[in-house]
Amino acid sequence: MTHPLLDLPPLTAAHFAGVERRVAALLDTEQDVVITQGEALLPLEGCIRGGARPGSTALNVVTGPYGQTFGNWLRDCGAKVVDLEVPFHTAVTAEQVERALAAHPEIDFVSLVHAEAATGNTNPVAEIGEVVRRHGALFMLDAVASVAAEPLLPDAWGVDLCVIGAQKAMGGPAGVSAVSVSERAWERFAANPAAPRRSYLSLLDWKERWIDGGRKALLHAPAQLEMLALEACVERIEAEGLAALMARHASAAAATRAGATALGGGLEPYVHDARDAAPVATTLRAPAGVDASELVAKALAADPSLPLIAGGGALAKEMIRVNHYGVDATRGAVRSSLAALGGALAETGASVDLEAAGRAVSGVWA
Ligand SMILES: *Cc1c(COP(=O)(O)O)cnc(C)c1O
Repeated sequence: MTHPLLDLPPLTAAHFAGVERRVAALLDTEQDVVITQGEALLPLEGCIRGGARPGSTALNVVTGPYGQTFGNWLRDCGAKVVDLEVPFHTAVTAEQVERALAAHPEIDFVSLVHAEAATGNTNPVAEIGEVVRRHGALFMLDAVASVAAEPLLPDAWGVDLCVIGAQKAMGGPAGVSAVSVSERAWERFAANPAAPRRSYLSLLDWKERWIDGGRKALLHAPAQLEMLALEACVERIEAEGLAALMARHASAAAATRAGATALGGGLEPYVHDARDAAPVATTLRAPAGVDASELVAKALAADPSLPLIAGGGALAKEMIRVNHYGVDATRGAVRSSLAALGGALAETGASVDLEAAGRAVSGVWA
């Protein structure tokens, strides 16, 4: 008897190229799209190791934990790194980026995270892209947490390297990812003797052996199950419509923000200005004297299926994340998450208004 997951015919190069084209359409890009056989950290590291080298200077914008990771890779490549750090409760502005570029004219690489699921903020990439373009630096964007949750237009925004993963708003698999690569970025990689070659981290290998070869032969056996899952996920997005999917995330974020405020009990949106809040996930600040991870544990004890988690690392005590993305970008998931948090808060003796929270959620969704 054949097994539906195990006994599959090999995934052909034509099939692989077809999925690649559909991902490119999702990004509205004319640039080359490379599908990378691993979680999104693989293309992110590949982009940095291809684009940075001893003698480069990188502007690394840090608005959350991923920016910190990029800074470490950039330094490891021998690049000089200018870190532009902003507090996690806000977004970076194009003016701040412009000032940093003006202070360091030698900057030739800029790394930025679009939306941060881990901190709940989102950055104005269109405006920042204009500034970076004028300066002439290569522009890398981590769009893992923004793709399918909010507009993402790498070509229009002048993004040279746009990395996405399917596991957040796309509602797809985590073990495969993609990056769009501009002509300028390919030239930079090719001119970099330290860029990975004949390596799993190498994007150049895919350029030379897959794209330039007319997409006839894959470099190695593709991650077949992940590719099929990615295809199913793109089909599902096409069926719903990308605009409808993004609207669902925007509503979930607005409803969580409004609902948490109405709930009271000392709970507050972590990102101060709604304009800076990411549609993919909403972060909340735990009331003074309440440990966020304990509160989340109590809420999850009532319903373990809720998309709730405490902040990572040092944020675990103060931050609650409502991961209302993918299948959880619904009124039901938002309402149940707030109800569970309200119940947990009430247990600590706080006074909460569950009905007001419910009304606020319904008001946004209507
Ligand atoms: C989720 C996410 C990633 C992927 O990382 P995981 O550790 O697999 O979740 C990368 N960048 C950003 C900005 C993300 O939000």
